[in-house]
Amino acid sequence: MKQYENISLKAYNTFGIDVQARRLLLLEPGDEVPPLAAPYLVLGAGSDVVFTRDYEGTVVVLAHQCRVERGQDDTVTAWGGMTMDDLVQWTLDHDLYGMENLSAIPGTVGASVVQNVGAYGVEAKDLVVAVHAYDLRDRAYVDFSAGQCCFAYRTSLFKQQPGRYLVLGVTYRLSSTFTPVLTYRALESLPHGTAQQLREAIAALRWQKLPRPEEHGSAGSFFKNPVVDEATYRRIRDAYPDMPDAHPEPQNHYKLSAGWLIDRAGWKGRVQGGAGVWPHNALVLYNAGGCTGDEVVALAQTIQQDVLSKFGVALVPEAIIV
Ligand SMILES: Cc1cc2nc3c(=O)[nH]c(=O)nc-3n(C[C@H](O)[C@H](O)[C@H](O)COP(=O)(O)OP(=O)(O)OC[C@H]3O[C@@H](n4cnc5c(N)ncnc54)[C@H](O)[C@@H]3O)c2cc1C
Repeated sequence: MKQYENISLKAYNTFGIDVQARRLLLLEPGDEVPPLAAPYLVLGAGSDVVFTRDYEGTVVVLAHQCRVERGQDDTVTAWGGMTMDDLVQWTLDHDLYGMENLSAIPGTVGASVVQNVGAYGVEAKDLVVAVHAYDLRDRAYVDFSAGQCCFAYRTSLFKQQPGRYLVLGVTYRLSSTFTPVLTYRALESLPHGTAQQLREAIAALRWQKLPRPEEHGSAGSFFKNPVVDEATYRRIRDAYPDMPDAHPEPQNHYKLSAGWLIDRAGWKGRVQGGAGVWPHNALVLYNAGGCTGDEVVALAQTIQQDVLSKFGVALVPEAIIV
């Protein structure tokens, strides 16, 4: 375990926002979790957070080490601090399949179950069999089955009870047979002869639409795709026949493309203060140069108000504002 006092978090969040933490605790696999005085914050790779101010407490980070154990029945258990993309490559190197579509997501294994990450038709919940966590409130190790995790679109039990659980490891069930998941329309024409080819094609596709964290800071998709009732969906579709197909959801609801709404409201490529809307993907807010978290939040709120007044749809951030 390593401890740092008054440390910049600039290298610990992909937006590259320069705030300070009073204390940073770096835990290695096997370290005892020490008692933590509030306030504290568990941080993975910081690829889904926006810091708006210095953090006057302890930031807990699991070391980004590659630790994976292969179990029975094509299961793997990975250390919570491991980079998700390294795990995807590890599985392919060991002839295990199912994670290809999650290639190039810049977060950690631990956060993959907090946010129930998803991309190109696959979500973490499709693969998770167990989550191994530490209950920071009751100071006890606890295992959850997938069914206990309350997974839903970009959320879970761990997100609903922020600060309670430190996810130390995740067990996923994969397959020794490669069956590509190509339900997402953009994947139909991609080369996918092998899982490695599919992985590389997905990564290339992603970087056409997303800023590379080493070049431009962002948190990926900033807003969730809104789920609206049928009347709202039909009203927008009738007014904008070019709206992309909405995804049918339970109880006659429809998931709309937040990126399309923001683009149609005229925001793609616009910059306000130090924060901007990514020119190739209106769903992404990015650091246009030394931005502060407040500038990101101000831009997000302006977009939310504009989309609400133009379409009557409320956008909810996917990124976590700290
Ligand atoms: C360029 C780019 C592309 C992206 N693409 C996608 C995408 O395709 N799909 C997608 O779903 N997301 C995407 N994201 C968002 C982000 O990568 C994911 O949400 C990812 O899971 C966040 O992981 P992280 O380790 O960075 O978590 P952080 O941002 O550090 O934390 C996110 C949340 O999880 C909590 N947390 C983190 N680690 C733990 C832990 N070990 N135990 C308990 N709580 C924890 C934090 O407290 C916080 O609430 C993208 C982000 C970027 C920058």
